[in-house]
Amino acid sequence: MIIRELFNRICHWGPMIAMIIINCITFSTLQVTAMWLPFFSSLNAAACHSLFLFLVGSTLYNFFCAMFIGPGYVPFGWTPADTNECNYLQFCSLCKGYKAPRAHHCRKCKRCVMKMDHHCPWINNCCGHRNHKTFTLFLISAVCGCVLSSVLLFLGLYRAFQVNWYFLHGDRRYVVYLTIYQLGFTVFSLGLALGVVLAVGGLFYVQVIAFIYLFFLVLHIYS
Ligand SMILES: [Zn+2]
Ligand SMILES: [Zn+2]
Repeated sequence: MIIRELFNRICHWGPMIAMIIINCITFSTLQVTAMWLPFFSSLNAAACHSLFLFLVGSTLYNFFCAMFIGPGYVPFGWTPADTNECNYLQFCSLCKGYKAPRAHHCRKCKRCVMKMDHHCPWINNCCGHRNHKTFTLFLISAVCGCVLSSVLLFLGLYRAFQVNWYFLHGDRRYVVYLTIYQLGFTVFSLGLALGVVLAVGGLFYVQVIAFIYLFFLVLHIYS
C-alpha cells in the first residue's frame, strides 16, 4: 500500500521532469568540468567538485523528503477536543471534519492540509507544516547548485570555443574537446541551469521578501 502510494507520487509529469532536469545538469557539468578541471588536478578542483556533488546530493535528498514526507493532513472527520472551539473553526464538507487553524483543503490532494502554503506540481505534493523546511532547503540547494553549474559550464564552453588557443598556449592535458552532440547537450544544460536560477531564485526571492515584510508588520503591531 505504501509502495503503491510512493509509486503514484513519483509517477507524475512534475517529479519526472524535475529529475530529468537534475540529471541533465549534473551529468553535463561533471562531463565538461572533468575535461578542464579534473578532480585530482588541484586542491581547488577537488573542492569545487566536492561542493557541486554536495549540492546535487542535498537537492535530491530534500526533493525526495519534501515529496514523500508530505505536508501533514488534518484527519478525516476531525473535531477539536474542546467542542466550544468548533464555533471558531471552518467545517470542510469534503473531509467531513473541522479545519485546524491555517489549514486549507487542497483539491489536488483531496485532503485538508495543515499550514498549507501551496500545491507544488514539481514534488506532486503540497507544501505545508511538515515539509516546509525540506522544501525550502530543496530550493536553496537547487539554486546554489545551478549557479555553480552555470559558471562551470560557461567556462567549459568558453574553453571549447577557444580550443585552438588553449591547445597552443595552455596546458594540453586540460583542453576541452566537444563533439557536436556534446556541445548541443552542454548548451541545453546551461539553458536549464540558468532557467532554474531565474525561476526558482525568483520564487525564493518573493518568499524571502514576503517573510521580511511579515516580520516588520508583526514588529510594528507589537511595538
Ligand atoms: Zn478538506
Ligand atoms: Zn495538494
